[in-house]
Amino acid sequence: MDSESDLRNEIRRDYRTGRFTIIAPDRGKRPEDFFQPKKEPKIGTKCPFDPGNEEMTVEIMSVGNPWKVRVIENKYPEFSPEIPFEEVDGKLEYISGYGYNEVVIDTPIHNITFDKLRFEEMRLWFDTLIEREANLYTKNYIKYVQIFKNSGPESGESLIHPHTQIMAWPAVIGTIKDEIDHIKEYKDRYNKCLYEDLKELEADRILIETEKTIAVAPYASRFAGESMIVPKRHVNYLQDLTAEEKDDFINVLILILKTNKKLFGDFSYNFSFHDIKNEPDFHLHLEVYPRLSIPAGVEFGQNVFVNQLPPEVYSESFIQKLKETI
Ligand SMILES: [Zn+2]
Ligand SMILES: [Zn+2]
Repeated sequence: MDSESDLRNEIRRDYRTGRFTIIAPDRGKRPEDFFQPKKEPKIGTKCPFDPGNEEMTVEIMSVGNPWKVRVIENKYPEFSPEIPFEEVDGKLEYISGYGYNEVVIDTPIHNITFDKLRFEEMRLWFDTLIEREANLYTKNYIKYVQIFKNSGPESGESLIHPHTQIMAWPAVIGTIKDEIDHIKEYKDRYNKCLYEDLKELEADRILIETEKTIAVAPYASRFAGESMIVPKRHVNYLQDLTAEEKDDFINVLILILKTNKKLFGDFSYNFSFHDIKNEPDFHLHLEVYPRLSIPAGVEFGQNVFVNQLPPEVYSESFIQKLKETI
């Protein structure tokens, strides 16, 4: 048995289910530190993401002078490049928590929500993500780079200042692995990428279609108001998008967020890019998960979600609201 001080970050594989969990003990928290008093809004605390407070964080890169987008080290990382890469097989399997966690500060403006950024600001944000993603793929042992956002109090966000997270994984596991397997299975069966059939598969659930991009409410959406944005051309990772495809993608993302806001108010949401280098069969997309209800016993006990807003109903209302948005 490891002594407590030997516990390091690692990705443990459940020997009963094959599921993975990241054990991240870095914060040195004791059980009593998880005691949850009633939340009081913090007043007068300095935001580490604000211009003027740059010394509070470790910068990786910034864009513009004064900066418009800034990338910093995540102060609470799940992974660290200082942990040696290690993959251990046996009755108890694990992969060491080698990897990188970065935070992209989307805008210098503290009191704004991400959906309110102008097209040019979001485009700059997108290019910064793409640059960091490409860079992280050059690091040793990095197999997958995940880009995701937590926005709003129900999303798990730690600071309200708009930001995005980038996590460089030492293994291809979890949903990205499942999706790679399913794309390959579909290709074996129908001899094409399943996203080529997206318009057929999601015919009743298309939210937006432009020249280069399509957004749908997925057939088996887990979350009320869930959507997915997909470039029409087969591209497996963000860096391969053309400038026109990026413009189009961002325009669609803005419409999705603004229209959802009209439908759901100031909703919390998470989104996660699914794209991966070195998997040419993969087809990149962005999944947006509004957090309008709280996953509970069915979800946690069975890992099967209950969605009370059928994607067909959502997409019909979305299209109505979209007409008012444009
Ligand atoms: Zn701030
Ligand atoms: Zn494809």
